[in-house]
Amino acid sequence: MPMKEATKNLKTLHRQHHQLADSSVQVSILGDEHHQYHLIPFQQKLEESGLYPLSPKQLEIFQVNLGKMCNQVCRHCHVDAGPDRKEIMSRQTMQECLNALQKNPSLKTVDLTGGAPEMNPDFRWFVEEIKKLGRHIIVRCNLTIILANKKYHDLPQFYKDNKVEVVSSLPFYTADRTDRQRGDGVFDDSIRALQMLNEVGYGKENSDLLLNLVYNPAGAFMPPPQEALEKEYKKALKEKYNIVFNNLFAITNLPISRYLDYLLQSGNYEKYMIKLVNAFNPAAASNVMCRNTLSVGWNGFLYDCDFNQMLDLKVDIKNNHISHFNTADLNKRSIVVNQHCYGCTAGSGSSCGGTVA
Ligand code: SF4
Ligand code: SF4
Repeated sequence: MPMKEATKNLKTLHRQHHQLADSSVQVSILGDEHHQYHLIPFQQKLEESGLYPLSPKQLEIFQVNLGKMCNQVCRHCHVDAGPDRKEIMSRQTMQECLNALQKNPSLKTVDLTGGAPEMNPDFRWFVEEIKKLGRHIIVRCNLTIILANKKYHDLPQFYKDNKVEVVSSLPFYTADRTDRQRGDGVFDDSIRALQMLNEVGYGKENSDLLLNLVYNPAGAFMPPPQEALEKEYKKALKEKYNIVFNNLFAITNLPISRYLDYLLQSGNYEKYMIKLVNAFNPAAASNVMCRNTLSVGWNGFLYDCDFNQMLDLKVDIKNNHISHFNTADLNKRSIVVNQHCYGCTAGSGSSCGGTVA
């Protein structure tokens, strides 16, 4: 089934004029302004572990969100991305990102995300400019974009030419579970896209072209152990589709945006939050990704992470825009935390690179 048809019933919160499309409503639910849930504040948990205020370490990863536009409308998207979203990063803001990178060699990795970052018309220019600065580049590719339009069919070769590390969501190695979360037909297109990436050399043994997959739970539960799941994925994808990849990242869903909507609609919000609170792990808390990562929004504002970006919780410093990028100020800041942070610190922890503890 063509993707357009398959996803026609899935709508962004933005398009539905849903109250959760307003990030301040999400923040007030998480902060329990109506005193419904009585969860231990995340800040208190950090204090008890001697980690409050949460401070940054050396900045290493520069995560840039190129926009909210996407060819998919996945049910649990924390960005509320979709084809109706028009917010994308301008070339001028990209140039400001490049200026910041040039001045800060400690930012060794640039992690490009979206939406579908490839839909930004300046995507390829930006990748090539970052490459000239000698940085490692990660692209969070949703796979189906490669097949969505003829103009994207050569993306695997483009990634290869620029030695891009590709990180792609594949919620499960079967069609039903993947399509339920990401839209009908997504699994088949994802499989074809993975084969195209393998064909140019991605994910192969002894190849430096990295292809990593991301698992996230389909419901209100935490991910199973990453290592065992990776073995399962590798076996199933190799046997059935002759697909190889490097690592599987098992990610916990954070209670934000469309996943928060799902939790509230299904009556699972409180239960899920209690699960996360009870699984708080100080070792995971001391390794959360916001300690060495900085996130840049499509409009150039700076955030401690992509999740804070979606809640519009900007970095807690005066110069919070890429045009005034200042690492000395950023290194002195305290990271802004709220109840959604429990998603990063439960069990083995969770980050854009999988478990952390
Ligand atoms: S989860 Fe990724 S692929 Fe799905 S709608 Fe969101 S940004 Fe697009
Ligand atoms: S949600 Fe963001 S700020 Fe909170 S712990 Fe996770 S990475 Fe850090």
